Amino acid sequence: MSFIETPSPNFDARTAPPDMIVLHYTGMNSGQAAIDRLCDAEAKVSAHYVVEEDGRVFRLVAEERRAWHAGKSFWKGRTDINAASIGIEIVNPGHEWGYRDFPDDQVEAVIGLLDAVRGRWDIPDGHILGHSDVAPARKEDPGELFPWKRLHEAGHGLWVEPPAAPGAPLGVGDEGTGVFALQAGLTRLGYDSAPSGQFGEDTAAIIRAFQRHWRPANVDGVADGDTRARLVHLLRAAAS
Ligand SMILES: [Zn+2]
Repeated sequence: MSFIETPSPNFDARTAPPDMIVLHYTGMNSGQAAIDRLCDAEAKVSAHYVVEEDGRVFRLVAEERRAWHAGKSFWKGRTDINAASIGIEIVNPGHEWGYRDFPDDQVEAVIGLLDAVRGRWDIPDGHILGHSDVAPARKEDPGELFPWKRLHEAGHGLWVEPPAAPGAPLGVGDEGTGVFALQAGLTRLGYDSAPSGQFGEDTAAIIRAFQRHWRPANVDGVADGDTRARLVHLLRAAAS
């Protein structure tokens, strides 16, 4: 695929090859405004790629370099997610400026970009994540409108649709072995969710991030039976 070269000065050296991809939305009024910021030395932020709504792909940082897109983040015990990942910014105004559907041309371009990136690096499906997955207390992007299921059908990332599962919902204020098991499962998948048995606001934020990615029809931070069934099936899919 072809790129529009738009070099950013905001990068440094990797310490190991990337084995993760983090998807973002730009969260600004226009794609150009986002690119300008990602190339501004004062802003100290960047990404490897920006994908416009019309499908154009801008390359800002070489994949061999460490771009600055994830901030304080965590997945599977690792905290320098910038060092481990390729960052892709997908143009969308986001929840703050008028969140809207990702156009087909843009989604096709993201899929083509994932094909290319994964042809160069060893990146498992369980390491294709949203910014909200690695920073659930701070971030909502790329959000519940992002078509993760379609990505999976194109060969990228995990997706499960288990049968409807009964079970009492777990939410803020609940405690006990059910909450402990839930947190252990979230930790095993990758989230920063050390089991305490207490369902606090931190767990609710992680459940919302989980739902934005894997149960977008209802993002409410409550671990109902369906949410928990999806977690269990994802753990199986990630292990296979
Ligand atoms: Zn982001």
